[in-house]
Amino acid sequence: MNIEALARPDIVAMKPYSSARKEAPGQGVLLNANEAPRPLLTDAETDFGLNRYPDPQPERLVAKLASLYGVPESHLLVTRGSDEGIDLLTRVFCRAGRDAILHCPPTFGMYRIAAQAQGAAIVSVPRSTDGAFRLPAQGVLDALQSDDRIRLVFLTSPNNPTGDVMDLPLLEDILAAAQGRSLVVVDEAYAEFCDRSSATVLLERCENLVVLRTLSKAWASAGLRCGTVLAQPSVVGLLRRIIAPYPLPSPVVGLALRMLEPDMMAKQKELLDQMTENKAYLLDILAGRRFIRDLLPGEANFVLLRTESPEELMTFCAQRNVILRGFPADPLLRDHIRISVGSRGDLDALAAVLDEWEAEHE
Ligand code: PMP
Repeated sequence: MNIEALARPDIVAMKPYSSARKEAPGQGVLLNANEAPRPLLTDAETDFGLNRYPDPQPERLVAKLASLYGVPESHLLVTRGSDEGIDLLTRVFCRAGRDAILHCPPTFGMYRIAAQAQGAAIVSVPRSTDGAFRLPAQGVLDALQSDDRIRLVFLTSPNNPTGDVMDLPLLEDILAAAQGRSLVVVDEAYAEFCDRSSATVLLERCENLVVLRTLSKAWASAGLRCGTVLAQPSVVGLLRRIIAPYPLPSPVVGLALRMLEPDMMAKQKELLDQMTENKAYLLDILAGRRFIRDLLPGEANFVLLRTESPEELMTFCAQRNVILRGFPADPLLRDHIRISVGSRGDLDALAAVLDEWEAEHE
């Protein structure tokens, strides 16, 4: 299949901007980018060569991320968080007023925002309403059959905020149904927290698959804004047509490279082990609480619970400096609260506030 046939024809036809750093590497006597000849910040911690524009896709970072995610370098685009990947995909593949994205709410809210910003329609196939929020696999397959506007299918595994994981055989069915019609985007922002095989194993075989990964969660680097789109080189090439000319600031690249050095791998493993322990601790803290109607532990670094008076409980916690996530504007999640797995100290603070809440609501 020709992936370009799924992209917006005006993007395919467009002549991409060619930045100075793309045309010539950042070495030699550089008189081609109207930069300052020397940086002003020069102490060890701040000397990122800030007077120069950064490499649009720094080779060393691309190589490290390719090895981390187990795919060839040609299959990577490094972005300002996964948020940017979602936005680029929507802008490249959806024509305003004509094409659509598909998502399965409740899910991460940025698929909808990206579609609305692009003027794309949103096909919502809701998760099961039995409290388990199961992925509506048949609904997704039916929608792909009946609605030829769908260019992007956003699936999230583990899903935010329900924490459930999609099995690869099911993903393969969806990829087959979408073949020649849509790209299937598997957002794996929380993949490191669960012990499952990544969808990247299907990347070579399934040309309409895109996987999103990020350093924001399991690499404890939300402040870096470093995400990765993993896809066929044809998709990467299309996204590169519209990405900002210099999306990755030099300090971010420097810190991301540091983050992926061998000694950090061990630290990350330690953090993940600690998060697993703390999640068990959080579940203990929540066990047997009378105000909890349902609890979805999920396979990520958060849990979702259903309760009778979520807004009152959230306010009670916030007044005591414990901030939880509610969804008052979402009809599917109005009575739910999401709690992230924090440090042991954070969770002790939560436990104390919940004890107080229970004592006041006997
Ligand atoms: N995908 C999902 C499912 C998320 O929950 C989030 C952040 N909450 C993101 C993507 C955004 O990740 P990033 O920080 O890499 O932009």
